[in-house]
Order: sequence, then structure tokens, then C-alpha cells
Amino acid sequence: MSADTLPPLREVIASHGLAADKRFGQHFLLDLNLTAKIARLCGELPQSTVIEVGPGPGGLTRALLGEGARRVIAIEKDPRFIPALDDINSAFDGRLSVIEADALKVGRDALGLKADERAVIAANLPYNVGTALFTGWLEAEPLWWSRAVLMFQKEVAERIVARTGEDAYGRLAILTAARAKAKYAFTLPARAFTPPPKVDSAVVVIDPLPNGERFADVEALSVVTASAFGQRRKTLRKSLGQAASQTRASAEELLVSCDIDPGARAETIPPEGFMALATAWRAARG
Ligand code: SAM
Repeated sequence: MSADTLPPLREVIASHGLAADKRFGQHFLLDLNLTAKIARLCGELPQSTVIEVGPGPGGLTRALLGEGARRVIAIEKDPRFIPALDDINSAFDGRLSVIEADALKVGRDALGLKADERAVIAANLPYNVGTALFTGWLEAEPLWWSRAVLMFQKEVAERIVARTGEDAYGRLAILTAARAKAKYAFTLPARAFTPPPKVDSAVVVIDPLPNGERFADVEALSVVTASAFGQRRKTLRKSLGQAASQTRASAEELLVSCDIDPGARAETIPPEGFMALATAWRAARG
């Protein structure tokens, strides 16, 4: 079988009995223009190993291989898709390997990357695990990926790229900014998927900051942002109290040491302010 002779995705879904299973967040993207558009956001594919999470019947997988990806390693939890993915592998000269597993449990070591190889991550993420996977990748050290092109629910994509002061600004935007640069690429209406989900989706392109520029203490950052945004409407003097109670300093002292107005609210403080607070929190823990 060659790439040209692979049957259309709808036929593959029908012939292999691959009806979408809601438990696995399955909404398939069958429009070849859209899958190619996502693949082209991945950068220099002929030089890249791509990690794809949740290939399903393989629409995006075909696009990645068709655009010349040197290798695609796909992680799929639902075993029903394996035969269809095997056919794609045969059609694209063995450039696809499939790991049948829960992607939340697959670490860098299981991917078979070379010692200092950086992969591209591409995925139409299952909604129920998308944010957990993304934050795990953001926090990974040493970092094993050079770019991630990810589809999320539109509302999650907005929270990733949100700027200070916007409604969607919060913990996810701050963690992302501390570790990477994220760009909102485009919106996909719910009707682009089979079956359509309840909400629209969006693709985000994430490029990690260079080594040495990524904020390292993600644990401290998580503590201060959880505290600050846990009571979003309160002033930081109050809302940061929970994080400060784990240190020798008061919330007021932590804030003043970072030149942050204790009367301000969390959504008005840019990511750099929270990184400074995380550093001060860690120092005050002793
Ligand atoms: N990539 C395909 C597409 O764009 O048509 C399918 C996308 S569908 C939204 C999500 C896929 O992720 C499904 O194939 C589902 O079985 C798979 N999946 C769900 N949870 C997973 C997990 N924890 N680990 C790996 N794959 C998972």
C-alpha cells in the first residue's frame, strides 16, 4: 500500500468499526486541508521526529508524514486504532511507530529519542487530559521537545495565550510564559470534527524558551499562583496569605520585597511579577 492508495478516512472508520468513544474524548478531524495546515505549523518536518498524542484513525498522522516528517511516534490509548495505524505505517515506508499507552504515563525515556534529540509534539488533544499533558510537557526538564503544535478547546487555548489583565489570564498563562512563548494560530469550529464536540477548538503553537531562560522553580510558581488566583477578587495582601503561611514572611512582606503593591489584584500582575514572588517565597521558606 502506498500513501496515494490509502483509503479515505471515513472509509477507514467504517471498515474498522471505529465509532467515536466519548470516554476517550474522540472527535476526529477528517478535513485534509485542516490537518495539512496543522502539520505545516510544525516547522522543518523532514529533520524532525514528531510525537503525536492520540492519532485515532490517523488524519493528522497522515498529514505529518505527507509533509515529510522523518519519523512519527504516536501514542494511542485505544487499541481499536492500531490496525488502521499499521496501514499508515506501511504506506509511509515504516516512518510511523505506535506506542499503545496512556500518554499521561509515557515519559521521555519510553519515546526512544536520541540522547540530546528534541522532538516536535503535535496533537489534537483529548479534552479530558489535554491540560495535564501540556503542563507536564512545559515543566519537563531536561526539555525534550523543540515545538508543540496543539489543539485544545478554544477556551483553554485562550487561557494559555492570555495577557495580563484579560479575563482568561491566570495560572496557565503564567506557567506558559515562565517556560515558553505561545501563539494562538487559528480557531476550528465544532462542526469541523466528527462527531462535533460541544465547543469550538483552537490550535496553539508553543516554543520553549532557551535553556537558562526557563523559570526553574515551577513548584514555587504553582504555590504562589494557586494562592493568588484561588481568591481572584481579593487583594494580593489577602489572597497570598495562604502561600505566605508556609514561610517566615507575611504576604505583605513578600509583595513589598518584589515591588508589588499589596493592594493589587492577581490579574493585574504580569508573569515576571509572579516569578519574582515565587523566588521570594522559596527564599522565605528557608
Ligand atoms: N488525532 C485524531 C484526529 O485529529 O482525528 C483523534 C483526536 S481525538 C480528539 C483524541 C485521541 O486521543 C483519540 O484517538 C483518543 O483515543 C486518544 N486518547 C484519549 N486519551 C488518551 C490518553 N490518555 N493517551 C493517549 N491517547 C489518548
